[in-house]
Amino acid sequence: MSITERPAAAPPSFHLLAKPTGAICNLDCTYCFFLSKDALYPGDRMRMSDETLEAYVRQLLAAHTTPEVTIAWQGGEPTLMGLDFFRRAVELVEQHRTPSQRIEHTIQTNGTLLDDEWCEFFAANRFLVGLSIDGPREMHDTYRVWKNGRGSFDDVMRAWELLQRHGVEVNVLCSLHAANADHPLEVYRFFRDEMGVRHLQFIPIIERATPDTLDLANAGWSERPGRHRMLYVQEGDLVTERSLRPEQYGEFLIGVFEEWVRHDVGEVFVHMFDVTLGAHVGLYTLCIHSPTCGNALALEHNGDLYSCDHFVEPEHLLGNIGTTQMVELVASPKQRAFGQAKADTLPRQCMECDVRFACNGGCPKDRFAVTADGEAGLNHLCPSYLSYFHHVDEPMRRMADLIRSGRFADEICEEYRARDAVTGRNDRCPCGSGRKFKACHGGT
Ligand code: SF4
Ligand code: SF4
Repeated sequence: MSITERPAAAPPSFHLLAKPTGAICNLDCTYCFFLSKDALYPGDRMRMSDETLEAYVRQLLAAHTTPEVTIAWQGGEPTLMGLDFFRRAVELVEQHRTPSQRIEHTIQTNGTLLDDEWCEFFAANRFLVGLSIDGPREMHDTYRVWKNGRGSFDDVMRAWELLQRHGVEVNVLCSLHAANADHPLEVYRFFRDEMGVRHLQFIPIIERATPDTLDLANAGWSERPGRHRMLYVQEGDLVTERSLRPEQYGEFLIGVFEEWVRHDVGEVFVHMFDVTLGAHVGLYTLCIHSPTCGNALALEHNGDLYSCDHFVEPEHLLGNIGTTQMVELVASPKQRAFGQAKADTLPRQCMECDVRFACNGGCPKDRFAVTADGEAGLNHLCPSYLSYFHHVDEPMRRMADLIRSGRFADEICEEYRARDAVTGRNDRCPCGSGRKFKACHGGT
């Protein structure tokens, strides 16, 4: 198979999450609807073959015209493939990359299988490891459980310590849900103070359901004896009891922001704050808040390429890289239309919204609410986006101005602290929680 010409619609670079074990995972996190995706491949061993691995690496490198290429592994749990699979992946990358290509290896893991050997490998090959932790023990263990129901907190803490000991760069991925989203300060201070985390990403859990599927969805997505389950697809305007309420994500982000902006700018990197600051200087770094998307795809273990990690479902299958070149699938009219629809399907409320430059309507998977005047297609999290983007507007503008004038954004911490010095300890906290300042962001 070869291509004679690069398709005109091919983007210079794109992001691809490869799932070498498909949806297979050794944990059984209650909110993880990806677990249900094994129903797409009944009877399959769900392991990426050497042939598919080689095609993936070669085609991904050839499809990029930018010097930076990210090789990203995800699952399921990718470490179930064993370390030799990833040694081979790195070897293939070195074999196929051009001298001018700079490679970033990343992997998202639950951490439970990591040991010294894995961590030595990550450190030697400069992997960026995304480690999933949902906060302090009781919050983490509510949903992040083993197949016997036992919480995985101790296992992930062990992984964190191993990774730290080997000097591996780690980004903590914290899913937000019913068990932790009402506790922004507790969650953030746990990561910052008890663990010493410096890179943090919060991921709102929204599991959709219809009146017919809600009970099944509430029961979770794992394969259990006697449990009937279904393939999760993005449909329905109901959400599970684990999912965030429309306003909850905004309250959480504001709670964290008010702490971060006083103490941690330039020290702790919270992905959403970087994304928002980027939008204030015209840079879009996250598909969810970019005007269009379509450049963040998912590759299944057998070479099937899907439009997006959140749309691994039959309707959004683009083709297989074993029979069609990846760059052709990425540039295909179907995929370009998928990405353009993010902008073209915005309801009028979004078009007229004063924070659209930063929000851009959020991810289409979450657009199942109705606007004030009855139009479909509004994001479930719109109340959160409105409150958060309004709340941070002034400090984000200030930080953008500081950066543009060649100064450091962290000067804003001092400005906040000067303001705090004249705020009464019994005054209402500026975060909007309704609590006294001393019992909220004025406390420690
Ligand atoms: S559908 Fe959502 S997650 Fe997928 S690429 Fe578009 S914005 Fe990103
Ligand atoms: S805040 Fe709400 S109305 Fe505004 S762009 Fe975002 S989703 Fe649309």
